Amino acid sequence: ARPVHPLLEKTRRSADLYEEAAHWMPGGITANIKHFHPYPVFMHSASGAWLYDVDGNDYLDYNLCYGALMLGHGHSRVMEAVQKQLEQMGTPIFGTPHRLEVEMAKKLAGLIPGVEAVRFTNSGTEATLFALRLARAWSGKGKVAKFEGHYHGGYDRVLVSVTAEKRRKGMPPKVLPDSLGLPEEIQEQTVVLPFNDWETAEPILDRHHKELGAVILEPVQAGFIPPDPEFLQKLREYTASHGIPLIFDEVKTGFRMGLSGAQGRYGVTPDLTALGKVLGGGFPVGAVGGCREIMELASPVRSGDILGGDQKAKGADVLFHSGTYNGHPTVLAAGLATIGILEEEGVFAEVERTTYKLRRGMEEVLRRADFSVQTVGEGTIFNLIFDDQPVRDAQDLLRSDVALRRRLDHYLLEKGIYLKPVNRFSLSTSHKDAEVAETLTRFEAGVNQLKK
Ligand code: PLP
Repeated sequence: ARPVHPLLEKTRRSADLYEEAAHWMPGGITANIKHFHPYPVFMHSASGAWLYDVDGNDYLDYNLCYGALMLGHGHSRVMEAVQKQLEQMGTPIFGTPHRLEVEMAKKLAGLIPGVEAVRFTNSGTEATLFALRLARAWSGKGKVAKFEGHYHGGYDRVLVSVTAEKRRKGMPPKVLPDSLGLPEEIQEQTVVLPFNDWETAEPILDRHHKELGAVILEPVQAGFIPPDPEFLQKLREYTASHGIPLIFDEVKTGFRMGLSGAQGRYGVTPDLTALGKVLGGGFPVGAVGGCREIMELASPVRSGDILGGDQKAKGADVLFHSGTYNGHPTVLAAGLATIGILEEEGVFAEVERTTYKLRRGMEEVLRRADFSVQTVGEGTIFNLIFDDQPVRDAQDLLRSDVALRRRLDHYLLEKGIYLKPVNRFSLSTSHKDAEVAETLTRFEAGVNQLKK
């Protein structure tokens, strides 16, 4: 008989759970991103940088709930803040305004350059959805421009060209659906731009600017491909001069590229900013912040003269935004505790230092093993790319050896390093030098297996 793969041998309880899960949920999962081949590992508990699965195996966690856990798992101050909040309120949520909404809105406006006013949502998806509605309402135009390879959530409007197809340099990216079931009009209503390539992007914008109600992008593509600062600046100038609201989707980069986000790091201020992930301290959250003039469109008490005639003629004079759980006090208590820790002197610099140490260590291990590879990233996030040419956009990523990376990730999982396969590494304040050293030992064991 063929020997059983060690990972399958040591995760038998996960295998059993998965068999049951697959009966009750399509693919055995509640979000497609949780899919692993041949089955996902079921976790049981966590602490700091560590995850423990249902079979008792330990893993150094570099997925960190897709980057949300900037403090790692179970930070005592976050756990206490949530417990205290629940005790003080006597209920999880009132469904009325409360003090923490004001506190968090003020905090965001104080930290993030493009934020003057805020609305909360329950996810990053809802945040970009609401930001796009605000932008279209303000500009009175319907088309949206997004960038090839950029993800903004799982709804129709932005679920195009997240996956890239090879194209000749200088050719405009195609509008490609990323899901079954998307209405065809979505593709007609969406313009796709190339990231970090102003020469190709500008003529596309010139062709469509009269119909464009918003331009949205991840200022750092997929959280790890840094922008050319000049490219961001040109995009800012173009959108400002053509009256098109510019939206930075900082769901990944917010509170990971520093306290002021990518916009603070690169010195380019958007009209609207979508936030999520770290903001909720491990609980479901999203937020949109932006300039007062656009944000005020959502106010039911405004005088009603900002929109102009078009929208009124169609019967809507207020921009709709609602949600049963928006501004959940428990979530905001966790988020405020998280931000409080990140604001302490030297905290960010220390996570960035350990991130670079890990990157250099991994590159050395891979170089010794003769792999053509590099780490690409910024701040507390990076990815491992099996290619040695510069990586600046989704087209460059198509060159990398994904099959090799997939195999490596499988070995890493077996050695106890947890990642979303082929995805980025995120670090936290819980990833100290000892965790980095242990990771590199396990990483080297995984790489040696890959060499065989
Ligand atoms: N925007 C970006 C840049 C993201 O990375 C994500 C999630 O990964 C989203 C939006 C969607 O956020 P959520 O998964 O909270 O709906």
